[in-house]
Amino acid sequence: MVLELTDAQSAFLAEVTAFAAAEVAPRAAAIDETGEFPVGVMRAAAAHGLLGMTVPKAWGGLGLDYVSYGVAIEAISRASATVGVSLVVHHSLVADLLAHAGRARQKDEWLRRLASGEALAAFALSEPDAGTDAANQQTRAERTSHGYRIIGRKVWVANADAASVAIVFACTRPGLRGQGVTAFLVPMDTPGITRTARADSLGVRGLGCMDLDFDIEVTDEQVLGSVDQGFRLAMWALQGGRVGVAAQALGIGEAAIAEAIAFAKVRQTFGQPIAKYEAVQWMLADVATELEAARMLMWKAADAKDRQERSRVESSMAKLAASEAAHRASDKAMQIMASAGYRRGSTIERLFRDVRATEIYQGTSEAQRMIIAQGILAAR
Ligand SMILES: Cc1cc2nc3c(=O)[nH]c(=O)nc-3n(C[C@H](O)[C@H](O)[C@H](O)COP(=O)(O)OP(=O)(O)OC[C@H]3O[C@@H](n4cnc5c(N)ncnc54)[C@H](O)[C@@H]3O)c2cc1C
Repeated sequence: MVLELTDAQSAFLAEVTAFAAAEVAPRAAAIDETGEFPVGVMRAAAAHGLLGMTVPKAWGGLGLDYVSYGVAIEAISRASATVGVSLVVHHSLVADLLAHAGRARQKDEWLRRLASGEALAAFALSEPDAGTDAANQQTRAERTSHGYRIIGRKVWVANADAASVAIVFACTRPGLRGQGVTAFLVPMDTPGITRTARADSLGVRGLGCMDLDFDIEVTDEQVLGSVDQGFRLAMWALQGGRVGVAAQALGIGEAAIAEAIAFAKVRQTFGQPIAKYEAVQWMLADVATELEAARMLMWKAADAKDRQERSRVESSMAKLAASEAAHRASDKAMQIMASAGYRRGSTIERLFRDVRATEIYQGTSEAQRMIIAQGILAAR
């Protein structure tokens, strides 16, 4: 067993870390402040090939393994959690699923453009009454002579502000829940899509979240995978997405620890830096240990994703552990920085808000515990 990155993975990480420091970190505060989708940063990422990290080389991507992708998402999220999760939606939830289940024509039309960054992607699964209970799809896809009419509402669709294409899930067999959902590949300029900006959010501001109302016509050619098999595809995509969110959380947690350490070395009380006090050291030791343990789970889940068809339990464990560890890391960092951190506009204040969503999207922590429990109960 070798728990180290390969030379190629380390070299890619160094490249992405340099990109994040030069192009992402300087813009992170402004993305948070304005709440505007970071079009310029995404263009810069595209120029470095970072919108096609996991896309096979045959479709113009970098064709990287999931461990490389995971460490890249961690490095980018350390600079900006918003940019990190936007890339996770684009890659794990859409491009990977298209590569996995798309027809040759769909890949020719969209995968190349996603890999080059010419097109950005969104994933529309959640509805007002289908969040954790995602199988409760109320959006209906009704049969027409040449395809389907899709009518319904999707909520919290990340990247929707700038996306050119979305994977949209809709019920094709009412009453069958997860057995009767179909996935459709829908260009965002299809007539009949109404976009409504999401109300202001606590963190990962600038993610371009929108609610989407659909009354559209699509053809049979736009079905992704097989009819009625869409829910299974959504769950497949979320396995990769949870590795991505775990990596995002690790990046936020590491940024929080870095802030706290820099502060603890210079802030003096009772005549010495607070880093000298065991009370402060133990907080740092605990959160650094928890993040490192979560990182091992993220690497393990990424490796499982590369090697096996199902990585359901591994990816849920990684997301659960990393998001909760990162939440504690940002909380302890805030405690160490005290009033200096509590100030509106401080970096730790942003990280403290950003980290919270990692315990909510792509399945809440309760949903991850349900998946893990089902997996371990079935296996033993
Ligand atoms: C910033 C952001 C970005 C998002 N981006 C996207 C996106 O791009 N695409 C998309 O489709 N969705 C997206 N979402 C939606 C997200 O996936 C859902 O918010 C999430 O799945 C939880 O659903 P909900 O908010 O409806 O909570 P609910 O399902 O209403 O859950 C409420 C609470 O009840 C708990 N709960 C529910 N059922 C159970 C149970 N059986 N046992 C125990 N506890 C339970 C939950 O854990 C939670 O604590 C995004 C959300 C956010 C906040």
